Amino acid sequence: MADEAGGLGIISRNPTLEEQQNFIQLRRESKDARKIMKKKRESVRTTYVKQHLPYCATCALYDFEDLIENKIKTLTRGGAALLHDEVNKITLDITKELNLEDYGPKFFTLITEPEPVAEQKLMDGIRNSVVTGYNYKYQCKKLGHKNTVWVPLELHEERSKKKRKK
Ligand SMILES: [Zn+2]
Repeated sequence: MADEAGGLGIISRNPTLEEQQNFIQLRRESKDARKIMKKKRESVRTTYVKQHLPYCATCALYDFEDLIENKIKTLTRGGAALLHDEVNKITLDITKELNLEDYGPKFFTLITEPEPVAEQKLMDGIRNSVVTGYNYKYQCKKLGHKNTVWVPLELHEERSKKKRKK
């Protein structure tokens, strides 16, 4: 039922309004690269979380967005338009360039002494408050994002020992 006049289905006409809009929205394109970046970031973040260490996922995303924005700005400064595929290529390069490991503990300062966290435990039929870990309150050095990390008692003691040795 389709119009087969062109045989190969090639259309020769002016871009529709919707297509024109796509050009304007180029900067917001590159969803694939964003997805890849977020996936990578999630796996890096998870490794830090497992070690009870902070990670600033927000700053990682902001820096990624800034890098894209700057690269597109530079490339289109002469009035050149970028195609969707080109934008994607740029953003994928940035995924490789951006070191997602950088947003771990070195990116933070500890803002207070670790605070003990107690849990109610039943011992010989009596409720007791037992310290099971410590809350480490961090703040990211760049934009001040807060990050509280719970550290199990054993790991906390290990860290305190190391600190004392220094
Ligand atoms: Zn941050």
